[in-house]
Formats: sequence, structure tokens, C-alpha cells
Amino acid sequence: MRRVFSWIAWPGLLALCIAGYAYGTALGHPILAYNITYFGMAGVLLVLERLMPYETVWSRSDGQMRQDLSHTALNKGIGQFLASVAAVLGASQVAPAAAGGVWPAHWPLAAQVVLGLVVAEFGLYWAHRLCHEIPWLWPYHAVHHSVTRLWVVNTGRFHFVDSLLSSGFALALGMLVGAPKDVIVWVLVITTYIGFLTHCNVDMDCRGLNWLFNTPDLHRWHHSRIPAEGNTNYGENLLLWDVIFRTRYLPLDRRPPVDIGTADAVPLTFLGQLAYPFRRPLSPGQVVSPVLEAPAEAGGD
Ligand SMILES: [Zn+2]
Repeated sequence: MRRVFSWIAWPGLLALCIAGYAYGTALGHPILAYNITYFGMAGVLLVLERLMPYETVWSRSDGQMRQDLSHTALNKGIGQFLASVAAVLGASQVAPAAAGGVWPAHWPLAAQVVLGLVVAEFGLYWAHRLCHEIPWLWPYHAVHHSVTRLWVVNTGRFHFVDSLLSSGFALALGMLVGAPKDVIVWVLVITTYIGFLTHCNVDMDCRGLNWLFNTPDLHRWHHSRIPAEGNTNYGENLLLWDVIFRTRYLPLDRRPPVDIGTADAVPLTFLGQLAYPFRRPLSPGQVVSPVLEAPAEAGGD
């Protein structure tokens, strides 16, 4: 039974949340539907982390829950503020016209959302990869990598500059190609669902999905302390660009490391973490060539 549940958990929870959001949107209550599915998924994953954890040692407190929630709240607040500003300025109305009709607005909405995910992922991939490869950007992203366990609560633990960079890259691309507002919103919503699934400490069998989506299997390697292992699997939702740019990494002969984190001395306090990138002297840190020294063959599921 647990085996079956482990297999259906990832696609099932994602499908349930997407269906719930679509239903609520059709009824004219998208915000309510989003909040129910967002907190519903978080709640279900918190329970599953207790019932069927992937790493039992990650069930223990790391003393960072308050900091994780503070970063999440700050990022959500900034995101909503920017969305409000964009709505007031009517940016979403201007963008399609500016793109000169490039966007296939006649496609069914679901197909447009898939296209939106692919386009946005290009921005998310490169924002993430550049944070790993450019020394002065790494300290912002190191806040996310400083966690010593993965669980649903630290999904949103990003320095706000890191969040602005990745969402800015993705949104700029979406607006450049003229993606309509509805499609952009759908991409943002799906990104939050997949983010939870990627970080949760639930024993999920994601075979078959690991070539298409960013899954916990792949993301646990991304949090490795070893740079050659961690500088891989940059995809946020989809794995397409990791496959194309050859940064996908999933050795079949080993489990990902339990002892995750970074060599960077990221402070333990929330304010210290916010200030860290501005105070930290430049040094290579995690920055090494991506994948190039990966110790094992990447491939398989
Ligand atoms: Zn990263």
C-alpha cells in the first residue's frame, strides 16, 4: 500500500491541486482556491513527512523553522506587492501587444500554460545556474543552500534578492513573448505546488517523472555539499533545460547525501541571513564548473 502511495503521491497531489485551482477559478474564486490548495498541499505533505519520511534524520528540528517561515512570508509579500503594482500599471495588458502577436493566444489554455512553463523555465534555469556560477551572486542563493535538511517548510527559504532575480528572469521572458496574464498566473501557481513537492521529505517514487519534472529525487542531489553534485539539476519545474544543457544529474547506484548544505558560513538568524550577501567577502564558495567533475554517470531515472 505504501509502495502504491509512494508512486502516486507526486503526480496525484499536483493533479489534485491543479484541479482544485481550476475549479475555484471557474467559480470566480481564484484567490480562495489558491490558498486552499496551497495550504492544503503543505498540510498533507507535513503529515506525510511524519508517516513516510524519505530521510528519518531530516524529521528532527534544525532550529530554522522561524527563519524559513520569515523568508517565505517576505518573499510572498514582495511578490504580491509587485503583482499589485503590475496590475495597476496594466503591464499584463501591454505585454501581448508589445510581442507583436508571437504568443499563440488561440491555443487551448492548458496548451498555453505548458508553453508558458517551458518559456518561464528557461529564465528560472539560467537565474538559478548563474547564482551557482557567478561568485557575487552565490551568497544570495547560499541562504537557500544553507539548510541541513529538506522539508516542506523550507521550500520558500530564499533570500529576497535571489527570489527577485529568478522571478524577474521568468516574468521578463513571459512578458517578452506576450504570454497573457492568465497564463503567467497559472505558471506561478504551478511553480508553488511543484516547489513544495520538490523539497518535501516524503518517500516518493518518482521514476518516470525524473526526465520531465524537477522531483525530490533530483533536487536532493542539488543540495549536496559537494559542488560537482550540487551544481546540477537547476530546473525549478521542468527538467527540459537541464537535459538540453547537460546539467541533469541522477546517479542510479547511490542515494543522495543525507548531510546536505554548503561550506559557506551563513548566519543562523533571519536578519543575519538577509545581511549575509552584502557583508560576505567575495570568494569562490560553491562556484565551480557545473557538472563537469560529477563523480558518477548521470542518467537513468
Ligand atoms: Zn541552487
